[in-house]
Amino acid sequence: MGGNIIIHYGEIGLKGKNRPFFERKLVENIKRSLSDQKFTKVKKGYGRILVELNDRSSPKQIVQRLQQVFGITNLAVATKAKNDMDAIKSVAQEVLPKRLKTFRVTARRSNKNFPLDSQEVNEELGGYILEKRPGAKVNLSHPETNIYVEIAGEGVFVYSEKLPGLGGLPVGVSGRVVSLLSSGFDSPIASYRLMKRGARVVFAHFHSYPQTDKRSLENVQKIVGLLDQYQSKSKLFLVPFLDIQKEIYAKAAAPDRVVLYRRMMIRISEIIARQERAEALVTGDSLGQVASQTLTNMSTIGEVATMPLLRPLVGLDKEEIMQKARQIGTYDISAQPDEDCCSLFVPKNPNTKTNIADIKKQEEKLAINDLVEKAVESVKIEVVTSLNNKKR
Ligand code: ATP
Ligand code: MG
Repeated sequence: MGGNIIIHYGEIGLKGKNRPFFERKLVENIKRSLSDQKFTKVKKGYGRILVELNDRSSPKQIVQRLQQVFGITNLAVATKAKNDMDAIKSVAQEVLPKRLKTFRVTARRSNKNFPLDSQEVNEELGGYILEKRPGAKVNLSHPETNIYVEIAGEGVFVYSEKLPGLGGLPVGVSGRVVSLLSSGFDSPIASYRLMKRGARVVFAHFHSYPQTDKRSLENVQKIVGLLDQYQSKSKLFLVPFLDIQKEIYAKAAAPDRVVLYRRMMIRISEIIARQERAEALVTGDSLGQVASQTLTNMSTIGEVATMPLLRPLVGLDKEEIMQKARQIGTYDISAQPDEDCCSLFVPKNPNTKTNIADIKKQEEKLAINDLVEKAVESVKIEVVTSLNNKKR
């Protein structure tokens, strides 16, 4: 017997019909994230999910994976006990640390057939531990060790260490979005935030290869590989953007270029979104961070969108964004100096207050539909998966 991992998930938003849907997705996502762990079984219980371990499973690695699945609030490696108080006592003995100073018992009984209620289990097991461990003391508010006893229909589980999950909602319960992803700091974090709220993220990256070197493309692939740990099997659309940039460079006013590039990116991303049955676009804009992110320019850029254009980082400072990037591991990739499409043909003095009518006038000189069509035709689609990169 290799024990069990008990998974708890959030209750928020879990009312009525949403609950079974949420649970099904969560179980599916957990199975996916453990798909290379042949010796484990994932089972849905009542209000908890169980991963049954076998002596060939690696609990440490499984815990690490589960800590990247959105929708899990906490988890624990637990030992199963028989359905009676004596068995619980002897399992608790095994679970307790060698040196026990202060402790409490936290029992939860959802199996009402068990003869003692949770308070009675607390008292009985607490008393037993005090007897067996003469140095130990009960401390209900700040115990060093908390012995959790879950008396459930699926069995009785005992553990002393509760590990935090990521929270959020299971990827997939909120539908799909297309995220405009560069290799910078912001857009990976914007994508992460949407995944955390249950959206499956499809990635679109615009590149000027071969005018720019391969590095920025490779960095984007690496970033998607990292983000894929949270959703499994990510689609990355690589859109050639050089022709569009050249056309804008030749025909539009230099200070307006960036906004014109962005409007083209939005148009193309919407076509990808429709194809992928996605319902919104996501960017890493943060208010005032650069010239294209003033309110005026955000509104000029957003004007071409017919879908909601989500900007989850709009109210964050760069430092807050970088901190998150360090935490999820994209920081080192984004920190590498690379040249992407947006560092090509960038004007010295970008316009911070573009005028929509004026922008539209300049767009009349561009063969917008042809350019969009050509770009979409030449898109390359990659499926990026993190499982291959994961340590086995
Ligand atoms: P980031 O750190 O995400 O690159 P940024 O602060 O550098 O953002 P911009 O370069 O103005 O700001 O980009 C704003 C947003 O436009 C990005 O967050 C991203 O969503 C999108 N974007 C920019 N460049 C690209 C690209 N080459 N491919 C796809 N999306 C892009
Ligand atoms: Mg950028």
